[in-house]
Amino acid sequence: MNMEQGPGKGPITSNDITVTEIGGQRVLVVQPVVPDDAPAPLKNASAIRRATNNTGVCPDYGARRVLPNRAARRAAAKAGRLPTARTVHKDDCEVLCGGDGGAL
Ligand SMILES: [Zn+2]
Repeated sequence: MNMEQGPGKGPITSNDITVTEIGGQRVLVVQPVVPDDAPAPLKNASAIRRATNNTGVCPDYGARRVLPNRAARRAAAKAGRLPTARTVHKDDCEVLCGGDGGAL
Protein backbone atom coordinates (compact mmCIF):
# COMPACT_ATOMS: atom_id res chain seq x y z
CA MET A 1 0.00 0.00 0.00
CA ASN A 2 1.31 3.41 -0.84
CA MET A 3 -0.32 6.57 0.42
CA GLU A 4 1.96 9.08 -1.26
CA GLN A 5 1.00 12.64 -1.84
CA GLY A 6 2.47 14.74 -4.58
CA PRO A 7 5.08 17.48 -4.24
CA GLY A 8 3.79 20.47 -2.31
CA LYS A 9 0.73 18.56 -1.09
CA GLY A 10 2.09 17.42 2.26
CA PRO A 11 4.32 14.74 3.69
CA ILE A 12 5.04 11.58 1.76
CA THR A 13 3.93 8.54 3.71
CA SER A 14 4.43 4.96 2.64
CA ASN A 15 3.07 1.96 4.45
CA ASP A 16 3.70 -1.78 4.43
CA ILE A 17 0.93 -4.28 4.98
CA THR A 18 1.68 -7.50 6.82
CA VAL A 19 -0.69 -10.42 7.31
CA THR A 20 -0.39 -11.90 10.79
CA GLU A 21 -2.57 -13.62 13.38
CA ILE A 22 -4.09 -12.01 16.45
CA GLY A 23 -6.26 -13.99 18.83
CA GLY A 24 -6.59 -16.82 16.32
CA GLN A 25 -7.77 -14.54 13.51
CA ARG A 26 -5.86 -13.38 10.45
CA VAL A 27 -5.43 -9.61 10.41
CA LEU A 28 -3.73 -6.96 8.34
CA VAL A 29 -1.17 -4.78 10.09
CA VAL A 30 -0.48 -1.44 8.38
CA GLN A 31 2.84 0.09 9.35
CA PRO A 32 4.79 3.11 8.13
CA VAL A 33 7.97 2.67 6.14
CA VAL A 34 10.85 4.59 7.68
CA PRO A 35 13.24 6.05 5.08
CA ASP A 36 16.77 4.67 4.98
CA ASP A 37 18.15 8.10 5.82
CA ALA A 38 16.03 8.48 9.00
CA PRO A 39 17.89 9.00 12.30
CA ALA A 40 19.12 5.74 13.87
CA PRO A 41 16.91 6.01 17.01
CA LEU A 42 13.83 6.39 14.80
CA LYS A 43 14.82 3.42 12.65
CA ASN A 44 15.43 1.30 15.77
CA ALA A 45 12.13 2.35 17.35
CA SER A 46 10.32 1.54 14.11
CA ALA A 47 11.91 -1.92 13.94
CA ILE A 48 10.81 -2.65 17.52
CA ARG A 49 7.28 -1.39 16.85
CA ARG A 50 7.09 -3.44 13.66
CA ALA A 51 8.18 -6.62 15.47
CA THR A 52 5.72 -5.91 18.29
CA ASN A 53 2.85 -5.34 15.86
CA ASN A 54 3.62 -8.52 13.95
CA THR A 55 4.18 -10.85 16.91
CA GLY A 56 2.23 -9.28 19.78
CA VAL A 57 5.34 -9.14 21.99
CA CYS A 58 7.86 -6.30 22.29
CA PRO A 59 11.35 -7.69 21.64
CA ASP A 60 12.89 -5.04 23.90
CA TYR A 61 11.13 -5.63 27.25
CA GLY A 62 8.45 -8.18 26.47
CA ALA A 63 5.36 -5.96 26.65
CA ARG A 64 2.36 -7.85 25.29
CA ARG A 65 -0.45 -6.72 23.04
CA VAL A 66 -3.78 -6.19 24.81
CA LEU A 67 -6.79 -7.07 22.73
CA PRO A 68 -10.14 -5.31 23.17
CA ASN A 69 -12.72 -7.29 25.13
CA ARG A 70 -16.00 -8.43 23.61
CA ALA A 71 -17.89 -5.31 24.72
CA ALA A 72 -15.26 -3.05 23.14
CA ARG A 73 -15.33 -5.08 19.92
CA ARG A 74 -19.13 -4.86 19.78
CA ALA A 75 -19.06 -1.11 20.46
CA ALA A 76 -16.52 -0.62 17.68
CA ALA A 77 -18.57 -2.69 15.25
CA LYS A 78 -21.74 -0.79 16.17
CA ALA A 79 -19.93 2.50 15.54
CA GLY A 80 -18.51 1.25 12.25
CA ARG A 81 -14.94 1.33 13.56
CA LEU A 82 -12.23 -1.30 13.73
CA PRO A 83 -11.41 -2.56 17.22
CA THR A 84 -8.06 -1.35 18.48
CA ALA A 85 -5.38 -3.47 20.11
CA ARG A 86 -2.70 -1.74 22.15
CA THR A 87 0.68 -2.45 23.68
CA VAL A 88 1.91 -0.57 26.74
CA HIS A 89 5.69 -0.32 26.60
CA LYS A 90 7.91 0.42 29.59
CA ASP A 91 9.07 4.02 29.88
CA ASP A 92 12.63 3.10 28.94
CA CYS A 93 11.72 0.85 26.00
CA GLU A 94 13.63 1.82 22.86
CA VAL A 95 10.31 1.90 20.98
CA LEU A 96 9.72 5.26 22.64
CA CYS A 97 12.80 6.60 20.84
CA GLY A 98 14.67 7.96 23.85
CA GLY A 99 11.83 8.72 26.24
CA ASP A 100 9.77 11.05 24.10
CA GLY A 101 6.63 9.95 25.88
CA GLY A 102 5.48 7.66 23.13
CA ALA A 103 5.35 10.19 20.31
CA LEU A 104 6.17 7.43 17.86
ZN1 LIG B 1 8.62 -2.18 24.32
